[in-house]
Amino acid sequence: MKRIVIIGAGAAGLTAAETLKQQGYQSVVVLEKSDHAGGKCCSPEYQGNVYELGAGFVSNHNRAVLKLVQRYQVPTAVVEYGKSILVDAQPKTIGQKLKTVRELLTYLTLVRRYRTVAQPGWVHVDPAVCVPFAEFAKQHHMEWLAEELALYFTGFGYDYFATIPAAYVLKYYSWPLLKARLQKKMYIFPQGIQHLWTTVAKQHDVRYHTVIQQIKRADTITITTTEGELECDDLIIASPLDEALEYLDAHADEHTLFSKIEYCDYRTYAVRLDDFPKASGFLPGNYTPDRMGSPVYWYHRHADTNLYTFYVLGDWKITDEQVLANIVAMVKPFGGTIVKTEVIKHWKYFPHVNGDVMRSGFFDQVEKLQGQHHTYYVGEVMNFSTVGLTAEYAERLVQRFF
Ligand SMILES: Cc1cc2nc3c(=O)[nH]c(=O)nc-3n(C[C@H](O)[C@H](O)[C@H](O)COP(=O)(O)OP(=O)(O)OC[C@H]3O[C@@H](n4cnc5c(N)ncnc54)[C@H](O)[C@@H]3O)c2cc1C
Repeated sequence: MKRIVIIGAGAAGLTAAETLKQQGYQSVVVLEKSDHAGGKCCSPEYQGNVYELGAGFVSNHNRAVLKLVQRYQVPTAVVEYGKSILVDAQPKTIGQKLKTVRELLTYLTLVRRYRTVAQPGWVHVDPAVCVPFAEFAKQHHMEWLAEELALYFTGFGYDYFATIPAAYVLKYYSWPLLKARLQKKMYIFPQGIQHLWTTVAKQHDVRYHTVIQQIKRADTITITTTEGELECDDLIIASPLDEALEYLDAHADEHTLFSKIEYCDYRTYAVRLDDFPKASGFLPGNYTPDRMGSPVYWYHRHADTNLYTFYVLGDWKITDEQVLANIVAMVKPFGGTIVKTEVIKHWKYFPHVNGDVMRSGFFDQVEKLQGQHHTYYVGEVMNFSTVGLTAEYAERLVQRFF
């Protein structure tokens, strides 16, 4: 029986481990550098309530995740809509609303035209969708719709429409996701989404606090870690690929490709506010690079508490003091004041490539590497940074190769 090591106990690594287990593999070890499972699914508890500092929502088309939810009977709840505040957004006239609906129809024809984008992974990405989404929306006369799409895209940390290739928007706003939103089939995890991965991790041999120092790949793979050495026949990397270059005996193509991956500096500021509306909100006025460092979205998870999580796109340089000052300025017109900063998290978020790299066949080249040197790559960069799409790719990869 093959011995398999997976690096990273986030959604990707644990879905891969779980799929291998379902397929009968018994010798699977997951190495995790931190002391917990979940990665960007991070759900701490404050004063008896669970909050989400990372991922919060999944939708009914995220089948790989929902399978785990069902298998381990992890509670979920339907997202309640209708309470969000839109800051600095001009209300749309009836004419503009009608245009938005017409543009949605155009968008759906484009989703159909470029439907391979919605498949797990990225095969043969059409150069037409490698242009920034702002340009793509202009070409197809969808500027009113773009304003709506930005709410759950830039608002959720997936970069600005001025730069991000259209392919990413088409991948995220796929027909199944739009349908799930229309049907209100979006879910949260009352015990926190991290609870799902903690539960899954308990079924596997996950070795925490394990820092990898070196990996040498021949017929047998030797992994040197702070906790000792182990050997395996196949390796699945479910952690940042650019960081893997630091410990992997990387080949030239791995170096060339993985060093092209870019990230967003996305941050969560959990603060207690007095006299602020008990609702979540979007800040579309901050969805351009010149508004970097100002909040793009805030989430009020528990109606009876004063704890809010604010989400901010940064530039890796802006200080937390500056960002907090921007949050103070934002809440002031509502009469709100910050009474306590509970926690701040910086995320190296949304691994992706720019339009030129995507056009040059980046993903086709990475896909060709799958299985070479007994190594496989999963994780959010291989599909898209949502729990559902990340898990789906990991599940498919295992089904394809093992
Ligand atoms: C603020 C925020 C909000 C989000 N909101 C949503 C949402 O509402 N819905 C949604 O679907 N998605 C959301 N996401 C995205 C989602 O959380 C991620 O795309 C997904 O969890 C990524 O899973 P992953 O396993 O690929 O990576 P990660 O979660 O990053 O997991 C990687 C794991 O590998 C470990 N690791 C890294 N390096 C090493 C190493 N060298 N050795 C061993 N272990 C290592 C890490 O500690 C981590 O546990 C959000 C993310 C953030 C940050």
